[in-house]
Amino acid sequence: PVTAAQAAPAGQEATSYLNPRLPAEQRVRDLLGRMTVEEKIGQMTQAERNSVESDRSRITTLALGSLLSGGGSTPTPNTPQAWADMIDGYQKRALDTRLHIPLLYGIDSVHGDNNLVGATVFPHNIGLGATRDPDLVREAARITAAETRATGPQWVFAPCVCVARDDRWGRTYESYGEDPALVTRMETAIDGLQGDSPRDLTRPDRVLATAKHFAGDGDTAYGSSTNGGYKLDQGVTITDREHFRTVDLAPYVAAVREHGVGSIMPSYSSVDWTEDGIGNPVKMSADKELLTDVLKQKIGFDGFLISDWDAIHQLPGDYATQVRTAVNAGLDMFMEPYSADTFERTLLAEVRAGRVTTARIDDAVRRILRAKFRLGLFEHPYTDRSGAAAIGSPAHRAVARQAVAESQVLLKNDGHALPLRPSQRIYVAGTNADDIGNQAGGWTVTWQGQSGATIPGTTILQGIRQNAARTTYSADASAPTDGYDVGVVVIGETPYAEGVGDVGNGHTLEISAADRAVIDRVCGAIRTCVVLDVAGRPQIVTDELPRTDAFVMSWLPGSEGAGVSDVLFGKRPFTGKLPVSWPRSEAQEPINVGDKQYDPLFAYGFGLSTRR
Ligand code: BGC
Repeated sequence: PVTAAQAAPAGQEATSYLNPRLPAEQRVRDLLGRMTVEEKIGQMTQAERNSVESDRSRITTLALGSLLSGGGSTPTPNTPQAWADMIDGYQKRALDTRLHIPLLYGIDSVHGDNNLVGATVFPHNIGLGATRDPDLVREAARITAAETRATGPQWVFAPCVCVARDDRWGRTYESYGEDPALVTRMETAIDGLQGDSPRDLTRPDRVLATAKHFAGDGDTAYGSSTNGGYKLDQGVTITDREHFRTVDLAPYVAAVREHGVGSIMPSYSSVDWTEDGIGNPVKMSADKELLTDVLKQKIGFDGFLISDWDAIHQLPGDYATQVRTAVNAGLDMFMEPYSADTFERTLLAEVRAGRVTTARIDDAVRRILRAKFRLGLFEHPYTDRSGAAAIGSPAHRAVARQAVAESQVLLKNDGHALPLRPSQRIYVAGTNADDIGNQAGGWTVTWQGQSGATIPGTTILQGIRQNAARTTYSADASAPTDGYDVGVVVIGETPYAEGVGDVGNGHTLEISAADRAVIDRVCGAIRTCVVLDVAGRPQIVTDELPRTDAFVMSWLPGSEGAGVSDVLFGKRPFTGKLPVSWPRSEAQEPINVGDKQYDPLFAYGFGLSTRR
């Protein structure tokens, strides 16, 4: 296969887009001037890799600008080598196009290169928010970038900079917290992914980042009859402009101006302005005011906007109307997983009919090409696999383990139940004590995640056993409980990615009947009782708390369960602080710091410290 530079006609290189010594803007202008409208529309199109796998020549004929692996769309076998071979194979087809424009491959590396079995899987964002450690978040993102890029993708759909205001939202775990200032502090993740300076993006261990989901995705209204019975995920943010600016928009201003984020993904949700009289929500993909006037013009975003999966299909009207509305609102690239060809045909017809201007198309393509030049893709379109050896390495896992330890929030510790001591006889119970799939949560190998031994790493139980030899495990606490010094019960959720949250728990914040039974049995029988919660958000434990001596929020720690035992046994201090307010009952939701009436079980920012 030839790269664009190799294919350059003699003499042309010095002045054209093929010349790596020219500034990116000049190269963009030159290339844009050579492109047909069909080629431009191709750049604006992103397809699911499954939709081209059986006929890869479609990458060339459709002149696709981008491909993605949606959740769980992995090669077989799921190895670094297979990923890189697959993506390089697609890249070869892209370089077969007339102008040899490389494609951008995007993936949801939202807590490590989580689609790959064997990658280092970090705590989900809610746990990272609890660490209050921006340097650690940058380092975790740097490792995520390196592990991802070594397998091919040059672009990740992360970080989620949503401000989660209602814990009933099924994507609360993807948020760094309920306070926009905390979310903004954690945007060091963007630097970890892209590098500290724009120049770093050309390095073979960095990726283009995506701030998502713009904006208000975590601040949607829930279900009362006065607001139309809205659901939280992909719902409606009912707000005045001042609240929206200070809570929902704030992280994007910093992402653009302080971190130079390369792309932004508009949300499935809608905004309904109270000043304008509610009842008229506008889907974000159609919101020209927010996408173009505010984000691009006022805030100064010069990257590109990528639509969410099939998002434009949710707009009113027929497909041509949906496409036209979204392009004219300011979306630049379209995640049209299984309808790339229809999208291209439809947009072309809209341009030919004059309903979408060529100026708008040029603006979109300029933004996309700018990213490709900044990444150095024209010079290095294929995967540099040298980083693959470090995927899941002890050094990378050590950082994840530290992140796990720093994310643990100690909410109760009566009579110094913690730290545990290696000499103690410990009775461990609860399924989440020994389930790495549950402790990793959604977006882990598969989209929704899965219970069971899905990835290598250590479970919390394994971590405890490494510290205390006299440990017994009984998932349902049916084994005899007599004779133990301490009981450790690990309760929590089972994995989910989007939507309503844990289906097993009936979509609620309540703990399951099974977890309640295990707490009853262990805390009723063993003198000292420690409960850990492995979940993506607070669960209602008001009635159970008095029965425990110690209570720890573990969030969704990922592959390194030993980080939990590090703090349980006092090898590291507890330092984590709640990134969200902890409700007494589900009826208190939404509950957030700064509310006029604020009576949580544990306040935002609470967390006992055992730092000496
Ligand atoms: C999610 C996005 C994700 C996209 C691509 C959508 O369902 O909302 O967060 O980036 O899928 O997988």
